[in-house]
Amino acid sequence: MNTTHASRGIAHVDDVISMPGDEQVLRRNIVVAPGNWTDSDPFLMLAEDWFQPPGGFEMHPHRGFETVTLVLDGAVEHRDSRGGTGVLGPGDVQWMTAGRGIVHSELPRGGTPAHSLQLWLNLPASLKMTEPHYQDLPAAEMPLREAAGARLRVFAGSSDDVRADTRTLIPTTMVEIRLDAGASITQDLPASYNGFIYMMEGEGRFGAEEIPGRAGQVLWLERIASDAKTSDIHVAADTPLHAVLWAAEPIGESIVAYGPFVMNTEKEIRQAFADYRSGRLGWDQVAAFEE
Ligand code: MN
Repeated sequence: MNTTHASRGIAHVDDVISMPGDEQVLRRNIVVAPGNWTDSDPFLMLAEDWFQPPGGFEMHPHRGFETVTLVLDGAVEHRDSRGGTGVLGPGDVQWMTAGRGIVHSELPRGGTPAHSLQLWLNLPASLKMTEPHYQDLPAAEMPLREAAGARLRVFAGSSDDVRADTRTLIPTTMVEIRLDAGASITQDLPASYNGFIYMMEGEGRFGAEEIPGRAGQVLWLERIASDAKTSDIHVAADTPLHAVLWAAEPIGESIVAYGPFVMNTEKEIRQAFADYRSGRLGWDQVAAFEE
């Protein structure tokens, strides 16, 4: 038996939690629920939103983590406290490192509702107060792995020998998967990564034991306890399949989350609120920008 490589199974399959709409969103699915910090480490939350004017997310702060937004349909306009602005269209990703603080808005644009997935990806204590940073990752510019009946868009990390040069502060793989009915792929991952696959369309079978999964489900990858260095996850489509795979190195630190701030301690959360109220979170950079 090869002890340096492990083919992963599926640890568990969850259904998304559908939330009613409010003044911000028409509808929200909670794909990865916050609060199960150890199980989902380093993923804090994943929300799938449908929103249209006058809804959306007006100016609000973040500190201590990254947001990774994949627009699935419509358009999302982004503005931030550093003077940055941009519009994401279908298939585009914005990788935002909030770090020590950003204040921004995310608003729908155009005639159709915006439909997006937003992941909250944690940062380790050593990087929570890092300088804010953005990466726009337009679908058309990201590398594509193609195989029989399979198209894998690599937004971070790699898939086989196709690699994205996205800056990731913790080692992370993000691959958007499209398979024709009957097609299958094997995605390689470091054995130390924790990860999941969110099924958006279709039906398929996953992992070494061909566990069935369908649209609206989240398949958490089995974690590797052995001394394996490399691993893979097998995905086979029974019908045309559209999914996103996220996997990353767990951080293993304490988490205190409150609203838009995710830190290690209560004291750091109180400091984040104090900084926000006194204008030292995000907006200090506007002053620097305008000078
Ligand atoms: Mn935000």
